[in-house]
Amino acid sequence: MSRNYVSSVAIFSALLIFHASLNAEKSDRLLVRITSTPEKMLTLSRRPLDFASMAQKTPRDAIVTEKELVSLLSEGYQVEILQRESDLAGQSLDPFYHTLEETHEYLQTVERLYPYLAKLHTIGKSTRFSLPIWALKISDNPDEDEDEPAVLIDAMHHAREPLGNEICLAFIDYLISRYGWDERVTSWVNDFEIWVIPVMNPEGYKYLIDNSLASPWWRKNLRDNDLNGAVNLDYDGVDLNRNYDLNWTYAGSSSPADWTYRGPSPFSEDETRAKRDLALRERFAVAITYHSYGETIMYQWSWPGTDGRAPDHNLLRKMASEMAGRIQNLSGMGTYTYSRQTAANQSSPWIYAVTGTLEFLVETGTSFIPLDSSIIRTVVETNLEGLFYLLERLRGPGIAGRVIDRKTGSPLEALVSIVEIDDFSTIEPRKSHPQTGRFTRLLEPGKYTLRVWARGFNPARIPLNIGSELLEKDIIMIPLRDRKPADRSPRK
Ligand SMILES: [Zn+2]
Repeated sequence: MSRNYVSSVAIFSALLIFHASLNAEKSDRLLVRITSTPEKMLTLSRRPLDFASMAQKTPRDAIVTEKELVSLLSEGYQVEILQRESDLAGQSLDPFYHTLEETHEYLQTVERLYPYLAKLHTIGKSTRFSLPIWALKISDNPDEDEDEPAVLIDAMHHAREPLGNEICLAFIDYLISRYGWDERVTSWVNDFEIWVIPVMNPEGYKYLIDNSLASPWWRKNLRDNDLNGAVNLDYDGVDLNRNYDLNWTYAGSSSPADWTYRGPSPFSEDETRAKRDLALRERFAVAITYHSYGETIMYQWSWPGTDGRAPDHNLLRKMASEMAGRIQNLSGMGTYTYSRQTAANQSSPWIYAVTGTLEFLVETGTSFIPLDSSIIRTVVETNLEGLFYLLERLRGPGIAGRVIDRKTGSPLEALVSIVEIDDFSTIEPRKSHPQTGRFTRLLEPGKYTLRVWARGFNPARIPLNIGSELLEKDIIMIPLRDRKPADRSPRK
């Protein structure tokens, strides 16, 4: 593969970013490790600090300004300084990492060499420099929207977390190179529609690389918050993973200067709208969103203020534990841990609440950008095991099928709920796909009641006994008798 392919859009944007970078100045930041009593750590977790990991554990790593460091110390937190950002600046990225341009080139090559397995989409553009956000769809017949459950894997909402991009590309490589002879891979590609978005935040990542890691902990996109045309790392950018529309004001910061700034409004950013629109169209059954770092998996959820559990808590907890148990940590002494995520403005709680997708946030590795290729390789390889579990879990236990109109035989968009589980005070009703009528509902083994409702049809209530497998069942809906007087034939 040649390394010099750059689209004209990318060249134009690169010039803009480079030009902008000349004006960039910023205060130094520190990576710190914070320790205190359980009560104080809980208070800490509610602050809009730039934590390294979502998991609320002690000690906890965070990126802080000098001002934030002083206030933590004055409040009695024990703070150990691990690194200064300025000490890292000027290092070069290990060539193992794909730059943004190399990522694009790789995706294009896959599409060109495997047109029967892969199709490259641009699902949106970045907010400030209009860099494309790519999604590679892998499936047999990738040009068609087939009646198959869909899976989403994405990474790099945050610029400083390129391990996720490498996992995505290694996953694509694994699928295309094994299709046709590896039975497991062949069945995944044939039976599912697998979407991969390696870089959710292209302009943030490009900025980080093009400036020789001058700001190696940069996290946000580059929204020009002060509208002055320059890139100002102390004021610009939105934390994309605080911009989703669920309990939007509960997490992140309202101040543009903060590195967890949630943006001017929910879905204000083109990047998050790109994922939203794809998710609403495809209605993914399961998903992983990769972040760094912490060697932990976050599942849904604890509801703000109540600590309430997600309706699918038992299932999600089980899946997180199974996945975590398959991913070796870097010490080699154990596996990833798992814990609940707060139901707020991040991708995973939003997509679960609104579309029913079981999305897990995986915090990979033990640093943002490890510079040692053997560490990168190990993180990538071990994480694939978690991903494979997720794909296999789509085979059940649970129920899947289509909702069909008995009269016309056409698929129906219907509300498909599990009476014992679904609580519509926190989640949107789950629906079958409007084009195919398809629904996929993973469940723990047990007895349930399936309720299917569509306007103009008799509601269906079906008792389910879910064992160890996926129950395949089409739901045939009977139209209500038309009662409009005009349609009645005159009585005789
Ligand atoms: Zn992240």
